[in-house]
Amino acid sequence: TAAGCLSSNSQAVKDNLDASVKAAGLEERVQVAGVGCMRLCCQGPLVQVDSQENPTEAKLYEKVNPEDAVKIISEVNGEVTDLQKGDLHQPFFTGQLPIVLENSGKIDPERIQSYIAADGYQALYQVLREMKPPEVVESITKSGLRGRGGAGYPTGLKWGTVAKSKGEKKFVICNADEGDPGAFMDRSVLESDPHRVLEGMAIAAYAIGASQGYIYVRAEYPVAIKRLEIAIRQAQRLGLLGTNIFESPFDFKVEIRIGAGAYVCGEETALMASIEGKRGVPHPRPPYPAESGLWGYPTLINNVETFANISPIIRKGAAWFASIGTEKSKGTKVFALAGKIRNTGLIEVPMGTTLQEIVTEMGGGVPDGGIAKAVQTGGPSGGCIPASAFATPVDYESLTALGSMMGSGGMIVMDQTTNMVDVARFFMEFCMDESCGKCIPCRVGTVQLHDLLTKISKGEASTADLELLEELCDMVKHTSLCGLGQSAPNPVFSTLRYFRDEYLALIR
Ligand code: SF4
Repeated sequence: TAAGCLSSNSQAVKDNLDASVKAAGLEERVQVAGVGCMRLCCQGPLVQVDSQENPTEAKLYEKVNPEDAVKIISEVNGEVTDLQKGDLHQPFFTGQLPIVLENSGKIDPERIQSYIAADGYQALYQVLREMKPPEVVESITKSGLRGRGGAGYPTGLKWGTVAKSKGEKKFVICNADEGDPGAFMDRSVLESDPHRVLEGMAIAAYAIGASQGYIYVRAEYPVAIKRLEIAIRQAQRLGLLGTNIFESPFDFKVEIRIGAGAYVCGEETALMASIEGKRGVPHPRPPYPAESGLWGYPTLINNVETFANISPIIRKGAAWFASIGTEKSKGTKVFALAGKIRNTGLIEVPMGTTLQEIVTEMGGGVPDGGIAKAVQTGGPSGGCIPASAFATPVDYESLTALGSMMGSGGMIVMDQTTNMVDVARFFMEFCMDESCGKCIPCRVGTVQLHDLLTKISKGEASTADLELLEELCDMVKHTSLCGLGQSAPNPVFSTLRYFRDEYLALIR
């Protein structure tokens, strides 16, 4: 019952499963639960049948119609039907290491008891009972966790800076303004396991000395918003948010702020302006939010996936987390796999997994005998990585060295039919539309760059236009005010770097 499957009628599947259980008189033996994302989005709606007696005998049903419900329940009851089953042992699942997604597709996101039964809020209890705030910061620092929103700033360092900043009040903000084309990791985490994000925010608040948190989530995510609202209400009712949490002096409240969907509001200064009720436009830094953020008070901003990593780090220890991944990029990363690939969906892999493993093995390669040509990572701020570099382990540094970036985790696969000039033009059009207009290099530059890319793709450009394109990209990158403008030329840079011949073939 995450948004992808809901859009394919999974609610009717669940309703029919409930009705079939009742009709077969199996209420005592069979429990039907709506769960969050089971990751293999291309095969949804998915139904998994787990047996308490034989946990290894789980069965997966793919592309389930409401009419299939009766047959599934018949099979649960020991009958044989003609329903096809999926393979839970395929590389798509076996290659993954779910930490952030450990509960996704397993627990009912609308029942706090389901989260608590999966060790939920144990980390918050542990922190409030056994750790001083500096010890929490130290633990996050030692884990090596880096921000999953894009730039990869060390999370412990950020928490430590806000903890040391002086202020009458402090705030914690969860940036859930996921807006990259093709990215749906954060939406899925919020829809599948909202309490995990609340718990991570509460631990952060305790570590830095904050008592108020905000989740800034875009209005296009109605299921995520609804489940967050339910989760906040349930946690307050059980005394896990609010005052006197676990009978400690710690108070923490969380409110939701719904954004109208402007891409630039994912930029932290624009996001804070939007929460304050102002127009969501960036302002120059310094001052940084850690010193002067929301209403001028020290503010910690992390994204959904970063907060979702916090409770397992506390429960299992910093050393455990630091043992996963590469030397400089610890833990796992969730990617939204989309584009020309057989298995679209969510994958969570240890840092250092190669693109080859992700695309060919777990993703199942390009369908219909196609050949993977490139992968676009990092959304409009990222770049296109050619197939010749697929052996590169995915981490923050290696993607940057390839002219792309980790970004929030969007991963779009392109095949041999994709025209890379059109790809660059698509992303430039996105930035042009989403530019807030505050500074001239971005406001005017993205329009000029889009015009030049259109001219090139129509075969009407000269060599001088190509030179102008490169010069203008450089100017927009170095003179724009915020990350949106500074990174808007990245898809052009990376396609010029690896697919220059496609540009030259179109030049008069
Ligand atoms: Fe606005 Fe673009 Fe300037 Fe950022 S770079 S402030 S989005 S005009």
